[in-house]
Amino acid sequence: MFRVIYSDTGLPALSIAFDTDTQASAIRDCLATVRPLRIARIVNDSWRIREALRFDNGTYKPLPAIISEADWFINSEADRNHFAHRANSDSAKIAFTESPEKGMDDKQTVIPINRYLARYFGDRLRSEEIAKISALYTAPEHKLTIGSDAESFLFAYSDQEVKSESSMYLSCMRYTKEYFGTPCHPAEAYAAGDLSIAYITCPDDSAKVIARAVVWPEKMSFVRVYGIDETIRVALAQMLEDGGYSRADDWRGARIRAIEYAGRVVVPYIDGDVTSLEYDDDDDVVTVSRHGNVDGSPTRGWAHSNSGRISCGRCGDRVCEDDTCHVGNEIWCEDCVSNGAVFCEYSEEYFADGEHFIVVGTTRGAQTWHNSASRHAFYCDKQGAWYANGDFNEIEVNTRNGTQTWCEQDNSDEYFVCEKTGEAYACNAFESVTVWTDEFSEVWESRQAAGLIVYDKGNGKAYPVSSVPNGAEVADFPLGMVPDAGQMELI
Ligand SMILES: [Zn+2]
Repeated sequence: MFRVIYSDTGLPALSIAFDTDTQASAIRDCLATVRPLRIARIVNDSWRIREALRFDNGTYKPLPAIISEADWFINSEADRNHFAHRANSDSAKIAFTESPEKGMDDKQTVIPINRYLARYFGDRLRSEEIAKISALYTAPEHKLTIGSDAESFLFAYSDQEVKSESSMYLSCMRYTKEYFGTPCHPAEAYAAGDLSIAYITCPDDSAKVIARAVVWPEKMSFVRVYGIDETIRVALAQMLEDGGYSRADDWRGARIRAIEYAGRVVVPYIDGDVTSLEYDDDDDVVTVSRHGNVDGSPTRGWAHSNSGRISCGRCGDRVCEDDTCHVGNEIWCEDCVSNGAVFCEYSEEYFADGEHFIVVGTTRGAQTWHNSASRHAFYCDKQGAWYANGDFNEIEVNTRNGTQTWCEQDNSDEYFVCEKTGEAYACNAFESVTVWTDEFSEVWESRQAAGLIVYDKGNGKAYPVSSVPNGAEVADFPLGMVPDAGQMELI
């Protein structure tokens, strides 16, 4: 519908409306007025509903978030009235409704994005900002792939040269596992279930990764984006944000795989403000933690070994090295030491309690020794006990059961030494006899003395046959004074 209006005020010159502008023009030409008149389209909001529906039904492809969610765009004149969208005819251009009249005519204007931004936002965006947004808008559409398995991480990292946002240096994790000398690529440690890898490959070469970012799907977060250049890094970050991801400062709480090899732990370079790792109760994973005990920021694929934890040789728990103890040839945690190890007071080392220990008499009291220390002690057959060498003396004693090792000190009343043979004899099996020679006397074992001594009936003394005093009335020395002498003969 059309009507005739005053050009200067825009107010209607006639109250009636016409179906076509031809009809309206014919009437205007008949009007006798000096004030300039013109024909105006009567607009309503019906076209706005039509345009809005086109977004809903997918006819229009919305503008990317870099524009649609920008502060300078939201609630702007363009935002409210242009129904701007990515041009269907050329996705590098923008299509929009320039005026309500064009809206009524269903006419959309298609122009390059940089011209659109300069025309409508030139007062708010600097030319370099317009250039950057335009570059992102016109960049070829990239396909984002997100993988959570080790193979995806390996693909996105190994031999892929990308740079970090925070520096212009190439990523330290860009090498192959051969370079790191690790059993798998360090980035494969990410594949513990929490973290995934989002990446974009080159449009011309699907084997070449041009941007990547570790993401945490459950938390919809990412920390840092890597890419071959700034444009693709921004593009990937934008794609992630468009997908609902938001940037986080660190990976705190995320678990990664604990890959041990040759006593060391394989770790990727952990991005963000928190880079230390804490061993979980589960040996298979480590958790990114502010108070972790493993440094997750080495660039060579290995956790620093001096800060690593050690696996207890008995229960397998991972514990700080300070809380461990050598037990035999193993390293055990404190709990296992107190519940399953015995301290050897000789070597001052712990041994597993299933091993053989002895109780040893020392001058400092009874001690528990590991069996391996038994060469530093002797076993007394008489007492049925061990005695420490050095603290006690051992002596070979003839007994009715043959020669035995006895402790000298603890058995001094139980044996005598024959001065004829120089050997020791058990008192309960052998008989000692005092043999007199002139003024001196010696103790002899009686059977050793058989035939060599005689007995003076007068004073009861024994003398060597060769030196019987004058006038003595001698007789053969009587054997058999020892209670068990009969048995002794059997030995
Ligand atoms: Zn343990």
